[in-house]
Amino acid sequence: MEAIKAYSVPLTAPKDLIEENFKLRKIALEEIFKHVKFSKVGKAHLRFNKSDRRELRDKLLKGWKFAKHYVDSVINSVIGLVKGWISLHNQGRAKSKPEITRKSVYIKTTLFSVRDGKIRITIEPRKRYLEVDLTKFNYLPKEYDSIGGLILQEDRLIVTFKRSVEQIEPKDYASFDVNLTNITGLINGRIVRFDLRELYHIHRVYEEKRRKIQKLAKTKPKTAKRLMQKYSKREKNRAKDIMHKITTSIAGELTSLKHGVILENLKFIKDNILNSCRELNRKLSKWNARIFQFMLEYKLKWFGLPVKFINPSNSSKTCPLCSGRLSAYEGRLTKCKNCGFVQDRDIVAVLNLRMWGSGVTPNGD
Ligand SMILES: [Zn+2]
Repeated sequence: MEAIKAYSVPLTAPKDLIEENFKLRKIALEEIFKHVKFSKVGKAHLRFNKSDRRELRDKLLKGWKFAKHYVDSVINSVIGLVKGWISLHNQGRAKSKPEITRKSVYIKTTLFSVRDGKIRITIEPRKRYLEVDLTKFNYLPKEYDSIGGLILQEDRLIVTFKRSVEQIEPKDYASFDVNLTNITGLINGRIVRFDLRELYHIHRVYEEKRRKIQKLAKTKPKTAKRLMQKYSKREKNRAKDIMHKITTSIAGELTSLKHGVILENLKFIKDNILNSCRELNRKLSKWNARIFQFMLEYKLKWFGLPVKFINPSNSSKTCPLCSGRLSAYEGRLTKCKNCGFVQDRDIVAVLNLRMWGSGVTPNGD
């Protein structure tokens, strides 16, 4: 099994490469988009063959002083972008036209070498290189097999570490339930809780900011767009920081215990969560769950620990002792109509996930 982890390393990227690559991608998009054909019923498809590609490549290479591989990556990534847009368009979900918004440069594995923890990236062949000493950043993984394609942005380099791991047979499983304001877990027979109120507060503050910016959009659309991007990025970074801390500490504990994890399959979550609450809370809650699961999964897989996803329907409404139906009691508490068991609904959910995920019925465990 191959495990992957991506990290960001701060640096100042060569400005000319960043700018020229950005321009190149815009030109490539314009050119490739000319090859999108529409059928009578409005369905789009891309007709871009080998000779079209060669022609575009030659055009883009004119005056290009950097390594040629950058041009190939630009063409590939723009084709991917256009295809993604086509598929959205054909589902009726596309915006007016695809756009290049991010100034990022994809660096193929053929454009760099790694020696003694140092990455050497070719900017101009045999002339100019960018060296990044990974050993200076102690948060990066020390044990890995290889480094995959890099992404260079103005102020950072995103590095993907790869490692092949053998799946460990876990001694037990932990389970987690993610809500709007907390994460509840069952680890080694113990209930653990992580407060997400700070995260909730951040989301709220930025939601308010976005609402204000939207008003600005009518008079100053460009400023509004720029501000919107800036705040969305900040919000995501702050939220991710909080989730990173939580998932890193959980992954550390589970790794030393050699426990796998059982999570709710979010595909099933639509109708069972907070349907009485407001739409925004529902979205935030799902966002929390998605980011938490994503981070915990790759952090565990790095050590070969399994992650199971199960259908969580009724997990907070079923009695973990007798499978009877639970109904609302006081606050977050629920009570079993059958046996009188009273418990917090989040704790009920993780108990059930843990049982169902390991194929145990109430009487058996
Ligand atoms: Zn019961």
